[in-house]
Parts: sequence; C-alpha cells; structure tokens
Amino acid sequence: MLMHLSGSGNLSRSDICYTSGRFDATNFAMETKADEYDAIVAIGGDGTVNEVITGMMRGGVDLPLAIYTSGTVNDFATINELPNNASDFARMLSNPAYVTADCGKANDDYFLNVVAAGLLTDIAYKANNDVKTLIGPAAYWLSAIKDLPSLNRSFPVKITANGQTYEEDIIMFMISNTKSVGGFRGLMSKADITDGVLDMLVIKKMDPIDVVPLLGSLVIGEHINNDNVIYLQSDDIKIESGEHVVLDIDGEEGSSLPAQISCIKQAIKLIVPSKEEPL
Ligand SMILES: [Mg+2]
Repeated sequence: MLMHLSGSGNLSRSDICYTSGRFDATNFAMETKADEYDAIVAIGGDGTVNEVITGMMRGGVDLPLAIYTSGTVNDFATINELPNNASDFARMLSNPAYVTADCGKANDDYFLNVVAAGLLTDIAYKANNDVKTLIGPAAYWLSAIKDLPSLNRSFPVKITANGQTYEEDIIMFMISNTKSVGGFRGLMSKADITDGVLDMLVIKKMDPIDVVPLLGSLVIGEHINNDNVIYLQSDDIKIESGEHVVLDIDGEEGSSLPAQISCIKQAIKLIVPSKEEPL
C-alpha cells in the first residue's frame, strides 16, 4: 500500500493507493506528482518498500518517504529505529526528522537495503526472524552451515572495485546499504546509509576446517578480518561470473550476473523519528 500525504502538519489530504500485484507500488510512486503532496508513505513488506523507492527513483519523485513496514526481516526499519506501531508512526509524521539516505542500484534495479547472491542468501533473509531471535545469530549460522558438503556449492566471481580486482571461488556475497542484513545486526559493521558507499561482504569457498573459526569471528564481530572474507566499501562495484548467478535484491529475485552495482549518494529523504519533543 502506498499513501500520499499533503497539508503541512495537519494532513488535510491523504490519498491511499492499494496494491494488488507486483509493480503496482512502483507505478503509483513513479506517477506521484511531487507538487501536490508533502510526503509518500510506504506501507507493507520489504518488497513493497523496494517497489516504492524504485518508482520514486525512476520517476525522479523528490518527496520525503516514510516507511511503515511489516517486513519479516525488516532490517531497514530496525537499524533506522522506525516505529512499528500506528501511534508512534503518527507521532513521527507530525514531528518528523529527516535522514538523506543513499540508494543502491544493481543493473537497472534499485535497492535500499541489500543485494546478495549465493548459498547463504536464503538462510540469511527468508528465515523466520523469531527463530533467529530464539537461538541467536551465531547458533543460527552454525545450524545453517553444519551441512558442510553444501560449502562446496561455490561459484567463481571476478569483482572489480576501487581499482582492484578479486578473482575467487566464493559461496556468497552481500552488498549492503545498512548495517543489518537478515536480522543480523553488525554483519556489515562499517555500513552507513549516508556515506555514499556500499559495503560488500564476500565469503570465499573454504576448507571445512576453517568454518568454525569464521563463525567464531562472526560472533565477536571480527569476521571482516577473517582470511576467508573480503570486506570492502565502494560506490561502484562490478561483479562477473562464468556461471548463471541470480541476484537477490531487497529479498526479491532480480537480474543475473554480470552486475554493475553503484551507490547513488543521498538520493532519498527518509522521514525518521525526531529525537526532540514537539514544541
Ligand atoms: Mg554506505
């Protein structure tokens, strides 16, 4: 669902667009006339939010965006402390603060949170968040990776970023705009949504004997220094592979490699809760 708001403070007008299929929210957002409204509100799961930012970017719609998400993983809302109940959300709209967020672009698709591919992608995103909360991220990764033969399901990549080239057999990569991916806070420990660069985490194909040390380093947040991990920050990353590899873009299936992934600096003005009390 997507809602258009206008009326500076007292919301004299709100137009609600209900989505009934894929790309409805993209089309609604893209066709929004910025001079008629004060803000767009995206209401729905991660996929809806992605569709709304896609429409805003494609249509050049320069309006503040508020996100009310019921997404299962909901990384973006969590990390940005967005309200998850109606009364707090209404309070945020009546006393807004703003963060000018970067937007990622992967080939022709936009993303607010993450682009990923490989073995652990499904585990990281599509898993039930309650399960993760219950047993903790480390235990969750452990249960996911304990099937050691699956670590052989690697694919070759050539990654070009910051003038460097990395050619590796890998089991997964993630390129994130935010710190938290798949409910795991701190997975992308250096990520900042306003710094103009995307953070990339690559896990190389490894000897099974190296898995436990990697998990250990994940637990204490030292994984970016692990020998089987590549961690980099860049505003322009090229990824190629000799195999057919499909990208997962904000939790939805996207285009395949090769991919040109870029960071569009401070592209979206997000409405966030104000730290100050209203006057
Ligand atoms: Mg960043």
